[in-house]
Amino acid sequence: MGKILLVEDEEGLILTLSDRLTSEGFDVATANDGEKGFEMAVNESFDLIILDVMLPKKNGFDVCRDVRKEGVTTPILMLTAKGETIDKVLGLKLGADDYLTKPFETIELLARVEAILRRTPAGSENGTPQEFHFGDVLIDVKRAEVSKMGVLIELSAMEFKLLKFLVENRGNVHSRDELLDAVWGYDATPTTRTVDVHIAWLRQKLESNPKHPKHIQTVHGMGYKFVV
Ligand code: CA
Repeated sequence: MGKILLVEDEEGLILTLSDRLTSEGFDVATANDGEKGFEMAVNESFDLIILDVMLPKKNGFDVCRDVRKEGVTTPILMLTAKGETIDKVLGLKLGADDYLTKPFETIELLARVEAILRRTPAGSENGTPQEFHFGDVLIDVKRAEVSKMGVLIELSAMEFKLLKFLVENRGNVHSRDELLDAVWGYDATPTTRTVDVHIAWLRQKLESNPKHPKHIQTVHGMGYKFVV
C-alpha cells in the first residue's frame, strides 16, 4: 500500500504509530534520530516521511531542508509541538507538505497520511522525484534527460532505464540477473555481460572518475548498487 519512514524519538509514539500504520497495510521503517532519518530518506525510497521536529542529533527542520536539497521529493508530514505556529510556517517553507500538531489522535494522523498520499502525483509514489541529482549529475525523469554540470549527456534508452532503476532503488544491491529482469525484461536475450557493459558506459558518462566510481558501485560477488 505504501512505504512510510517514521522519524521520531519518542518510544511510545514510535510503537503506537508503527503498529497502527502497519495494521493499515503500510510498510513502516523507523529512525529515532535526525541523522539516521536523513540517511534513510536519501538512500532508500519511501512514499511518505513522517518527521518529528524535536529530534536528537539533527532537528526535523534541518532534516527536511537537507532531504529536499538532495532532490528527494517524497512528501513530508511534520510533527510539531503544540501551538508552535512559527514551526508550522518554517516547516512548510523548508519543503514539508503538511504538519500535525502534537498531541494528536492516531486517526487524525491516518487521515493526513491518506490525504497526502492521495494527492501525490502519479509517478512519484515510489519516492522518485521528477528531478534527481547526485554529484554533478542531474536527472530529469519526466524528460528522460541527464545532464552533467549543465551539459546534456547522451544516454541510450537502456542506459537511461538502468540508471533510473538504480536511482529509484538506491542503497539496495542488485544482482546482474535482477537488473536484466527489471531493465531488459524477462524475455530478454542479453546476458549478464550486457549489464556490465551498460554499467561501464554509465560510469564513463557520469562518474567523475569512472575507474573509481563513487555512485554506481560494484558490490563484489553480488552485483551493483547506487549510492548518492
Ligand atoms: Ca521528539
